[in-house]
Amino acid sequence: MTVLDRTAESSSILAARITDGPGGYGGVVADEEWAAEIRRLATLRNATLLAHNYQLPAIQDVADHVGDSLALSRIAAEAAEDTIVFCGVHFMAETAKILSPAKTVLIPDQRAGCSLADSITADELRAWKDEFPDAVVVSYVNTTAAVKALTDICCTSSNAVEVVASIPEDRTVLFCPDQFLGAHVRRVTGRENLHIWAGECHVHAGINGDELAAQARAHPDADLFVHPECGCATSALYLAGEGAVPDDRVKILSTGGMMDAARATDAKQVLVATEVGMLHQLRRAAPDVEFLAVNDRASCKYMKMITPAALLRCLVEGADEVHVDVDVAAAGRLSVQRMIEIGQPGGGE
Ligand code: SF4
Repeated sequence: MTVLDRTAESSSILAARITDGPGGYGGVVADEEWAAEIRRLATLRNATLLAHNYQLPAIQDVADHVGDSLALSRIAAEAAEDTIVFCGVHFMAETAKILSPAKTVLIPDQRAGCSLADSITADELRAWKDEFPDAVVVSYVNTTAAVKALTDICCTSSNAVEVVASIPEDRTVLFCPDQFLGAHVRRVTGRENLHIWAGECHVHAGINGDELAAQARAHPDADLFVHPECGCATSALYLAGEGAVPDDRVKILSTGGMMDAARATDAKQVLVATEVGMLHQLRRAAPDVEFLAVNDRASCKYMKMITPAALLRCLVEGADEVHVDVDVAAAGRLSVQRMIEIGQPGGGE
């Protein structure tokens, strides 16, 4: 038996363990053998592996790049490889496809949705636009490709204020789908003609004002890092502005900013208001600092559907492939490009 035969044999033994259930693919342990197989298959497929910050630690560790959705989509567009494996939720893989239409984009489990992106459909946005035919539509990047295609300008939490401020004051603005980010933008800009869609992320419910204030009281010397890039902590962004915690201890940060602040902080403890996956990165960046989740139940079940088994299956089968209609992708790309022209979507996103 040659080395190649042995590799193929152990590969198929590993793949044979994959199970499928309502919570996603399982049956595979993220050990060294798995990581080596993932890397081998990625090379065979000429694929680059991208992992969102909220992915399981093992997925982050095996990936080529870890970051926020927009930064990963930009890396995807520039990557030399012709296949992108996007370990994140579906709208993120769609955004990568919008920005890299010629590449094959795979997501390890296409059932990984997003409650925030699902809180407005293209039909609902079309009906809302019909009510306000002269309005400018601003959408957070957590939206489907079909919603982006009906959007004038996309935004992230880092540049939402700048994007809205760039619109002439007499123009009505429709802001979707995140109500907390919308409320934050309305407060900062003082804009009355900003209509906000009542969408939200299910994870944010674990990061509420009482919990935030109680944690701040219990750890009086700790800094508070808020990372609202995925919708899960936009409520904390809003609450921090409402005075739920002392101003001087709150730092609203993008991923890159959060890593820099983690390395630079004098605080022994840092409270982190975001999805718990971000803690893995922070602990790696600053092992001497104690990072505590404001709510350790703030975990996105959709992000966690990208399991070791799902990633293995993806690379073995070349599935699930993400398709975006050509016209939808072209219109969606325009809304993302307009955002980039107006303002930085966020340094380290
Ligand atoms: S954390 Fe919230 S906004 Fe982010 S993917 Fe999960 S459900 Fe969507």
